[in-house]
Amino acid sequence: LMKMNSDVSDKCWHGCGKTGTLIHLLWHCPETKIFCQWVVDTLVLSFRFSSMVFFALILKVYSAKITQISPT
Ligand SMILES: [Zn+2]
Repeated sequence: LMKMNSDVSDKCWHGCGKTGTLIHLLWHCPETKIFCQWVVDTLVLSFRFSSMVFFALILKVYSAKITQISPT
């Protein structure tokens, strides 16, 4: 942006103090890394939660079948 409009600062707008190139914004900026880590953590957490719900449903179905089969 600095090359197109000299009024705009060429620093990263996240405020890390480095030059705000596209590669920096996508890969090297610490703010982007924090955001990416948040996305990964959220995905892992939702995957764990959904797999827990999945296993709980399987356990419920199988325990219902076991109680149907056994007479006691
Ligand atoms: Zn930055």
